Amino acid sequence: MGIGAKGWHAEGMKSTMQSTPLLISSLLRYGTTVHGESEVVTWAADEPRRTTYRDLGRQAAQLAHALRRLGIDGDQRVGTFMWNNAEHLMAYLAVPSMGAVLHALNIRLFPQQLIYVAQHGGSEIVIVDNSLAGPFGQLLAHLPAVRHVIVNGPVDDATRAALEAPDHVEGVHDFAGLIAGEPIDYDWPEDIDEQDAASMCYTSGTTGNPKGVAYSHRSNYLHSMGVAATLAMTPADRLLIVVPLFHANAWGFPYAAMVTGSTLVMPDRYLQAEPLSAMLVKEKVTGGAGVPTIWNDLLHYLDTHDVDVSLVRTLMVGGSAAPPALMRAFHDNHDIEIIHGWGMTETSPVGSLAIPPPRVEVDSEEYWTYKASQGRLLCGVEGRIVAPDGSVAPSDGESVGELEVRGPWITASYYSNGTESDAEIGEMAAKFDDGWLRTGDVGKLSADGFITLTDRAKDVIKSGGEWISSVELENAIMGHPEVLEASVIGVADDKWGERPLASVVLRPETATTVADLSDFLEGKFARWQVPDRWAVIDEVPKTSVGKFDKKVLRARYAEGELEVVKT
Ligand code: ADP
Repeated sequence: MGIGAKGWHAEGMKSTMQSTPLLISSLLRYGTTVHGESEVVTWAADEPRRTTYRDLGRQAAQLAHALRRLGIDGDQRVGTFMWNNAEHLMAYLAVPSMGAVLHALNIRLFPQQLIYVAQHGGSEIVIVDNSLAGPFGQLLAHLPAVRHVIVNGPVDDATRAALEAPDHVEGVHDFAGLIAGEPIDYDWPEDIDEQDAASMCYTSGTTGNPKGVAYSHRSNYLHSMGVAATLAMTPADRLLIVVPLFHANAWGFPYAAMVTGSTLVMPDRYLQAEPLSAMLVKEKVTGGAGVPTIWNDLLHYLDTHDVDVSLVRTLMVGGSAAPPALMRAFHDNHDIEIIHGWGMTETSPVGSLAIPPPRVEVDSEEYWTYKASQGRLLCGVEGRIVAPDGSVAPSDGESVGELEVRGPWITASYYSNGTESDAEIGEMAAKFDDGWLRTGDVGKLSADGFITLTDRAKDVIKSGGEWISSVELENAIMGHPEVLEASVIGVADDKWGERPLASVVLRPETATTVADLSDFLEGKFARWQVPDRWAVIDEVPKTSVGKFDKKVLRARYAEGELEVVKT
């Protein structure tokens, strides 16, 4: 009987292969032995701290023993409140491998959101960098589930006393002291189901409370494979991971590096362009990952300082649309390729990466169109475009609608701890469409799997019944040499329903005016698409993970705080 004939499948011929579960502990075991010589470098004010993958594995085992001693014996949550550093990586490895669930808390959220997220996740133990002990201490009284706090780095008496103050805290421990003397190997449990939760992250809800996503061992494992293969990561890579470990799994790099043995350079709290460029040089960095705002700052620094970045080949960018002008400037001025990726907390997060097909000539117009797209879906991630009437539109590179995705590292639901209201449960369920995740992103999908997004559904500007893409306008405005940042929102208009308002940050002491910017857009857009309202501002407000925050801009406009110029 041929393949696909009913009877053949019904008989269900079993494979002969082993059913080894896909666990984080396998990544740990592999990475820290086979790639034992690879390094983790953590930046510091004086000398960077260095550790090998081998030692990282040993310390992860010690941490697991210590956590066990503090009562972690099942799928309890262990939180982190940390920068990108070696100890944070140890938690990434140890916590899921021992069967518990890692919850990396976003240190930049507003306290109310942080309290909600930490409580909803339910961490019993939280590992905190000593530089963050102050802000964490302010939250602790509101986190009754937390029994122990582990402080990474020396902890002075005052800090210890502050963290010990709430009654529910049984102990405050010094990280190094806590793990010292513990055995350097751990019998990682093998009876964990690969579908069990390994880690969790929260996305910031546009309305209401943030929503939690619980990643499985299997989803993390397959996602790391997908990222490592698509980016062609190797042991020779030295990667500067600026994207925080608390932002959607640091895009999978911690686990992908275990697969490939790539050295990781962790910036800790030194995220300004100056120390980042020092890391590039001193640590012979070959690649990196961060949001557009980080690379934008770095670009301006490199453009104005003499920094030898000849070893840097690629920088991955994602989280929001990367302006083509940014990519071209890195390419033209510094011979660095930007790789644009798209994803969401709900998609582990990497869904697509923009690597132009090899037939496309480097630096041609077509090349830049591919680079500016959100990229090609990774193997395992399926996508479709759904038209406003709910019908599935063709993946022809032209039909526009909401992008929906599904696959082994796409979440099938949000995490519920039983405390959500009916309205929240309804809101969470509405994000799914017959097994597909509604991304809330609007755009098109080509037959060869490239996504091009025009907007988030909630950012789309509708003027006189026609859509205007805020992303296309922002990209074009940021292509003007005197513009540092630009963000476009739709504002109410009596005649047209909505009109675009562009908020721009200009280079200091420039003579450029908004009329010049409006002229600059002529010919690039239809007349009615060009913004006729402009505001020159000092800085575009940013979200907790460094994206342009349109919510804040809208609020400022509503409060009359923006000085709007009409052109
Ligand atoms: P938050 O909602 O808190 O920003 P995420 O980090 O999960 O949380 O954001 C995911 C969203 O970020 C996507 O749905 C998309 O709108 C946007 N995004 C991510 N990468 C890109 C990209 N390369 N281009 C355009 N938008 C992007």
